[in-house]
Amino acid sequence: MKIGILGGGQLGRMLLQAGINYVVETFVLENDEHCPAAHLCHHFTKGDIRDFDTVYTFGKQLDAITIEIESVNVDALEQLQREGVRVYPYPAALRIIKNKITQKQFYKEIDIPTSEFKITNGLSDLRNLESFLPAVHKIGEGGYDGKGVQLMNEVRDLEMGFNEPAVLEKLVSIQKEIAVIVAVSDTGETTIYPPAEMVFDTRYNLLDYQISPARLDKEVFWKVEAIALKVVRELKSPGIFAVELFVDKKKDVLVNEIAPRVHNSGHHTIEGNFCSQFDMLWRILLQLPLGNTAAVLPSALVNLVGEEGYNGVAVYEGLKKVLTLNNVFVHLYGKLQTKPGRKMGHVTVLGNDYTELTHTAHKVKNMLQIVSESF
Ligand code: ADP
Repeated sequence: MKIGILGGGQLGRMLLQAGINYVVETFVLENDEHCPAAHLCHHFTKGDIRDFDTVYTFGKQLDAITIEIESVNVDALEQLQREGVRVYPYPAALRIIKNKITQKQFYKEIDIPTSEFKITNGLSDLRNLESFLPAVHKIGEGGYDGKGVQLMNEVRDLEMGFNEPAVLEKLVSIQKEIAVIVAVSDTGETTIYPPAEMVFDTRYNLLDYQISPARLDKEVFWKVEAIALKVVRELKSPGIFAVELFVDKKKDVLVNEIAPRVHNSGHHTIEGNFCSQFDMLWRILLQLPLGNTAAVLPSALVNLVGEEGYNGVAVYEGLKKVLTLNNVFVHLYGKLQTKPGRKMGHVTVLGNDYTELTHTAHKVKNMLQIVSESF
């Protein structure tokens, strides 16, 4: 079977890594020929995933196509689907998710709990929404990893908003941020991974590490599972979906957003779960039975990001030390250049004891630094 991936970053790389276990001919489309996935596929095409003709021509030769990023040409995917290429996720689902405005409207239509919101087309709309503060302003399209998200506490913050289609959401008093991966097969069967909880560095409000299965009360756990399953089922599309949720101080569960693809919050499933999110996506793409989502052991996931102040050829300081630790799995994405905040790799830690997991996650973070040779 010929399967293509739009985008060649680390998600594509780890997908290809899992694909080696299957009989499949792999194709990647990406602008950067030095991207993490380029040399791991059978056929690399250099090209723009946002361009109709490029995506259409690339897809036309395939049995099935998937994405590792949302900013792709959805019109081309629609055309391919009409002509019989299997597309994961369905372009209709991708269209809903691609824009935060349509995403929020979708939750409202299907009665999924989410924070209250107002749509704003520009700063003039925003200036009328003083009474809606405190809130979070989010750009409709093109935001990622917190870029395109602006916290607004007071009236003067309104001027820092986005002067283009965006959504203003009520600020949630977050107790915990949760992510759940849900898989949907071609025939509509679903399966769900144990939820993961995000642990933030309160100094910088950056994700510090993630723990899975999340520590949640039974009732909250059930709510998280039920809501994640319902919202994904309503998308009516096969594929892998990462649902990000907030548990608020009243223990209400709200959907924040969905990614219609393999996701950073599911990287621990490579070693931590019987069937990884990447293996699961292959099963879906190749129309095979879904796998077992259960955790082998609890896990912690630490992202390796480029240190502040370093730009240039990446050097992995402390790598040898980290590799002496037990039950610690290092993944480097093969990106030559580091820059502050760039995702360069991740480390998964397995263990039965949550205190120990947390301790080792911190240890890994302190030991391993991504810097550059000289500057
Ligand atoms: P991105 O898609 O860029 O990651 P998110 O929508 O996930 O953006 O927002 C980034 C972070 O901002 C979230 O992880 C959360 O910590 C915070 N956040 C987003 N929306 C809200 C909200 N309505 N209330 C409180 N915090 C929020």
